[in-house]
Amino acid sequence: MKFVVQKFGGTSLVDEEMRRKVAARAVETKQEGYFPVVVVSAIGRLGEPYATDTLLSYAGCNKELSPRESDLLMSCGEIISGVVMAATIQKLGHPAIFLTGGQAGIITDNGYNNARILKVDPQFVIKHAQEGKIVVVAGFQGITKEGEITTLGRGGSDTTAAALGVALEASCVDIYTDVEGIMTADPRIVSDARPLGTVTYNEICQLAHEGAKVIHPRAVEIAMQKDIPIRIKCTFSDAPGTLVTKHSEVYRSTIDITRDRIITGITHIPDITRIKVSTKDNLDVPVFQSKLFKALALAGISLDFINVQPESVHFTVKSSVAARAKQILENMDINPEILPGCAKVAVVGAGMTGVPGIMAKIIEALSEEKVQILQSADSYTTIWILVKKEDTERSIRVLHRQFKPSE
Ligand code: ADP
Ligand code: MG
Repeated sequence: MKFVVQKFGGTSLVDEEMRRKVAARAVETKQEGYFPVVVVSAIGRLGEPYATDTLLSYAGCNKELSPRESDLLMSCGEIISGVVMAATIQKLGHPAIFLTGGQAGIITDNGYNNARILKVDPQFVIKHAQEGKIVVVAGFQGITKEGEITTLGRGGSDTTAAALGVALEASCVDIYTDVEGIMTADPRIVSDARPLGTVTYNEICQLAHEGAKVIHPRAVEIAMQKDIPIRIKCTFSDAPGTLVTKHSEVYRSTIDITRDRIITGITHIPDITRIKVSTKDNLDVPVFQSKLFKALALAGISLDFINVQPESVHFTVKSSVAARAKQILENMDINPEILPGCAKVAVVGAGMTGVPGIMAKIIEALSEEKVQILQSADSYTTIWILVKKEDTERSIRVLHRQFKPSE
């Protein structure tokens, strides 16, 4: 059986006409001789009646809702959209059935709100597909061994699709969304961002980890384990989209393209806070430094942009945990310097390894725009720049102009 997993994001399911297009795509895939498995997100975004954030808002203050109950509440969104999609497919005259994450065999750990998939047992998916039905599965949710409903964290429907793709040894996993593939930058920020024709798993993983939210990085990591190709496509156009694969003989011609490409894209992560600690007045600096880092690690606070110097230590944290980090440091009699409202802009490109002059070009572009670089860091495939929140979009645009990432 040749399965194709087709995942549709919330923005692709908002009204009846869109849902009919989605249903027609699944039926067409069936007619081409594949067994489509349709994975759906909740319908729409905050404001739409059954979007994930709307459901949470019905429970009043989210913080008072226990993680278990908030997962039960959130899981309703995908159940509603899945049942509606199965009905829409049936209306087109094709048999269809809806399965919850649990019914589709998505078994997770009990990490409510951000559960990890432990295994996938797709026997019911296969059974119903064998009976000729188009199977619609609720994305973003699973079930523990004890029968508790869990959710997989933001972007979790991508993860569901990839995990089912691997379990079914699918011909490919198609991620349908509201843009024409993976773009060289977020098209909401850079109007002339261009879709990338082919990218490798590694490139897309980097882009996704650095903030390109078009696909969840965990989904890429899962598909990569079994080399299941991923295609990112637009629900509403016939544009070719982006093909994500590994380097292989089959894609030799495309390897050359990706290898020639120095910069793949520009991404960003907002809501970052920088913390600076002076170590000048300490008698034993290494002991002080290690106490500081251990205390933050013990509290489960993950750090980024770490820069240790003889007289100071700098790092960044997500703004959501900044107050907690500050408290921990103050409890140690440290008086940190806090700079909230920063963003991390990343210039990503597997081809930049060993290419001189990239940093010079970044500085040239940003200084023309009078953007102050607060801090920088680099690996052999990414250069990160910390900027003030108000400079974020300008930085992304000018870096995109400077590097012109494209196919
Ligand atoms: P869905 O509901 O389909 O899962 P998402 O909102 O999760 O959609 O992801 C699609 C959005 O990702 C696009 O509308 C776009 O604004 C944003 N995005 C950010 N960076 C990129 C990028 N590099 N390429 C494409 N889209 C991007
Ligand atoms: Mg998404």
